[in-house]
Amino acid sequence: MMDFTGKTALVTGGSRGIGRAVCLELAKGGAGVVLCYAGSETAAGETVRAAEALGARALAVRCDVSDAGQVSGMVDAVLHGFGRIDILVNNAGITRDNLLMRMSEEDFDAVIAANLKGTFLCMKAVSRLMLKQRYGRIVSLSSVVGLRGNAGQVNYAASKAGIIGMTKSLAKELAGRNVTVNAVAPGFIGTDMTAAMPEAARDAVLASIPMNRMGTAEEAARAVAFLASDEAAYITGQVLAVDGGMSM
Ligand code: NAP
Repeated sequence: MMDFTGKTALVTGGSRGIGRAVCLELAKGGAGVVLCYAGSETAAGETVRAAEALGARALAVRCDVSDAGQVSGMVDAVLHGFGRIDILVNNAGITRDNLLMRMSEEDFDAVIAANLKGTFLCMKAVSRLMLKQRYGRIVSLSSVVGLRGNAGQVNYAASKAGIIGMTKSLAKELAGRNVTVNAVAPGFIGTDMTAAMPEAARDAVLASIPMNRMGTAEEAARAVAFLASDEAAYITGQVLAVDGGMSM
């Protein structure tokens, strides 16, 4: 098990899916965990209780990561309650799928705002703290779709490819101060996001996975936790695919 004793983690989108699994993986290792959510207050409370049941300190904050003021308020709340931020996991994300010719400007903007700008704002809000601490781990959720593209997901693919560019750029900016910046690119993971896909689309994706199955949120979360741990101290600017071989 990875040891996060004495560390504080901020996990965006921790109310459900991969984000919740990340919170619990970090909590198991002894981290204090602050998670944010967009609207699912009850689900966020359940993650907090599950983390507390593992012996961790935990707090949920409502925060739309695409809003700079709310992100700054969230970071203040973490510092007020926990005094430091050692780990940032940029996990909050949405999809608004459609073929490009039918995709509205609003759906393009909404996905870029939540997924890409949200990641930028959270990175910006914690970078100074991490530089001063001379310690930090930033892990962002990209996607196989950001590596390979996917019909019907121009907006989402752009946001996830953008996260890779931001990850590598920030990794270069912060490397000299012991702050690592990496991304995890999941393939097809069983969460609310993929449950919303039409059955034919799910079957088509499953057929393209060499391991012939979906991944679990816990399998994605363990890769995030590894990159957030001291075991990954010499790894920065990398994208780790967790996809059953899908992106080979
Ligand atoms: P999910 O089950 O749909 O959960 C999304 C989470 O993000 C929820 O906690 C949600 O909060 C939060 N969120 C959404 N918009 C937000 C905003 N503007 N501000 C703050 N929080 C926001 O998603 P998931 O499947 O676990 O995916 C998690 C991440 O992994 C995403 O970045 C996704 O793109 C990426 N990913 C997933 C897969 C997959 O197969 N599932 C594959 C590749 C990459 P509420 O509960 O309050 O709505």
